[in-house]
Amino acid sequence: MTDKPYEPLRPKKGPLGELLAPVAGFGVTFSSMFRPTVTEQYPRTKTPPQRRYHGRHQLNRYADGLEKCIGCELCAWACPADAIYVEGADNADLPDGGHMSPGERYGRVYQINYLRCIFCGLCIEACPTRALTMTNDYELAGPERAGMIYEKKDLLAPLAEGMLAAPHPMVEGTTDTEYYRGEVAAPTAEQLDWVRDRRPDDATLSGAERVVHGEAPPPTPSRHRLRGSATKAAVATREAATGGHVGTGSAGGRA
Ligand code: SF4
Ligand code: SF4
Repeated sequence: MTDKPYEPLRPKKGPLGELLAPVAGFGVTFSSMFRPTVTEQYPRTKTPPQRRYHGRHQLNRYADGLEKCIGCELCAWACPADAIYVEGADNADLPDGGHMSPGERYGRVYQINYLRCIFCGLCIEACPTRALTMTNDYELAGPERAGMIYEKKDLLAPLAEGMLAAPHPMVEGTTDTEYYRGEVAAPTAEQLDWVRDRRPDDATLSGAERVVHGEAPPPTPSRHRLRGSATKAAVATREAATGGHVGTGSAGGRA
């Protein structure tokens, strides 16, 4: 077998091409100078992600304010990154027949470790009550590792206007089935009286009272949303606190 001499496939440059070859790379730089700037001005300007974007999780509530989570731990078992920790408890152990959620159990402890979460969404698929969903909020950076473990209070959906804060009894004459079917649309007068007797200073009483008396529409469940555009003052404060560095925090690795 004879060795063929190497022949490059690219055609050889002409004399002009050879002359300009050392500075040809600057042509890319020069042409880029006339293209529109695409720099994101984050965090001063925040771009909303697509509606189906999987961001931070949320634990949802029913319209009367009870929590949807029943502490079953299916989400924790489904998680491939071992990022969820759940401890359930019995509603029967709460005083005076109060409930945190419909049925027997509720999630007493609920944590998601965002240093481990890969936002795959398997946990929300596993949840039997649609208690766990994912929002559009992507602002999950933080300066401390411990702060990246979100507790139940951080994940629970805000109480919408007209909802009654738990614990309180389930709607009279219902079982958890009616709740799962979406047949509970608002708090009732009996629930209102129960809370008023035990927590007369509860801030949710007035809103729920208006709903019960027909003076306000039934509550619409709320969601955690992407935080609004940062004001200049807020950015300045943060820049001062971080020595001018405004961006992601230092959290990383496994906790
Ligand atoms: S999104 Fe995926 S990784 Fe994150 S908590 Fe859910 S199952 Fe685990
Ligand atoms: S979020 Fe859903 S799957 Fe996870 S413990 Fe609560 S009810 Fe069960």
